[in-house]
Amino acid sequence: MRGLLIVFSGPSGVGKGTVRKEIFDTPNHEFEYSVSATTRSPREGEVDGVDYHFISKEEFEQMIEKGEMLEYAEYVGNYYGTPLKYVNETLDSGKDVFLEIEVKGAEQVKEKAPDGVFIFLTPPDLTELRKRITDRGTDAEDVINERMKTAREEIDMMALYDYAVVNDEIKLASDRVKNIIKSEHFRVDRVMKSYVENLLEK
Ligand code: 5GP
Repeated sequence: MRGLLIVFSGPSGVGKGTVRKEIFDTPNHEFEYSVSATTRSPREGEVDGVDYHFISKEEFEQMIEKGEMLEYAEYVGNYYGTPLKYVNETLDSGKDVFLEIEVKGAEQVKEKAPDGVFIFLTPPDLTELRKRITDRGTDAEDVINERMKTAREEIDMMALYDYAVVNDEIKLASDRVKNIIKSEHFRVDRVMKSYVENLLEK
């Protein structure tokens, strides 16, 4: 049985990265993280191959040309994308794959793999969102404004998703996401598909 493709997305600054880390820091999660490729420079403490595959613009554009990206987006002047090979191989081995990506990328995945599980992380409110972005202290004012504008547009896009999880508290949000993934395995259509596959194998 092929694994589930889990797409975790939401507006910029909502805390996707933090919730994702909380999810993966807990032992016994039964899904694999797909490390994205990006052309942005590593932030302090980020490790190549763990946080991102840090690659050049030329390398990234070559991967796009060769069809090696499941999805990609340009975000605040840099490319971000999901290498297709890892996702396919992991799903084929029967394991679930977890993507943490921005919303334009999620839209592309929805078109290519509509049977994925689409989870949207929402901020408690927009004021809180601006505070979080500013508190992070890594971005200039114009970048913050650009991120806020994008965030408002992104919230309108929630309709594309199967689940909306409020990020009021990291631990709570992380538990909600894990529960959603667990429940997805018990959906009748998935269980039936697995029964049918087993029958055909015999
Ligand atoms: P950051 O630069 O803060 O690490 O990431 C910026 C945004 O890019 C975040 O919203 C993050 O979720 C998103 N992102 C990270 N990896 C990917 C990816 O592979 N594809 C897309 N479309 N977005 C990504």
